[in-house]
Order: sequence, then C-alpha cells, then structure tokens
Amino acid sequence: MSVAATYLVVLGDAGHKFLWYNGCTLSNQTSNLSIPKCNQCGCDLVLVKQKTEKIGNAFSPMTTTTYRCSNQECQDEIDRRVTKHLQLREERELARQNRLQLNIASRK
Ligand SMILES: [Zn+2]
Repeated sequence: MSVAATYLVVLGDAGHKFLWYNGCTLSNQTSNLSIPKCNQCGCDLVLVKQKTEKIGNAFSPMTTTTYRCSNQECQDEIDRRVTKHLQLREERELARQNRLQLNIASRK
C-alpha cells in the first residue's frame, strides 16, 4: 500500500513556504506560481490535496499542499522512503510518550 502524502508544501506565517520532501525541508522551492518540479527526477508534480488549518496556537492558519510526482517509478521510490520515515517518526513518538509516562510514575 502506498501513502498519498509524499510532497507537502507548507505555507506558514508571513508567507514562508516550506517544501516537505522525504523528511527534508526545502525553503523557497516553490516561490513562483509555476508547477513545482520533483526534486528527484525533475518531472512536474501533481497536486493531490490542499488543506488549510490552524495548528496548535499558531498565529495564522497553515496551508498544507500535497503533491505527487507524475513519474510513477519515482513516486513509488518516494512512497517507500516516506513510509519508512513516518514509521521511524511514529516509533520515536511512542518512545517519547513511554519515557514521559515513566517520569510521571517515578515522581509519585
Ligand atoms: Zn520524481
């Protein structure tokens, strides 16, 4: 199964743009309005979805744009890496929560 969220462009406060790609943040990649290009193979990116939401206590809402590479072979490779990256992040988050609970327990 492949994940859809592979390319994320986050528009934050004061119009800062971040392109989230394979776990890396590249700024000003999409500063013009032209179609963003894949960082890996140079193919056009296809817009998957766009979501505007307020995250935490951020001052202004963030727009998250998700793209896919139009090159299927390249996208498959990205999917693999992103899936791995998300798994790692999840494991780290779980470990962090376990530590937190241990800390709370030891304080009692
Ligand atoms: Zn590509």
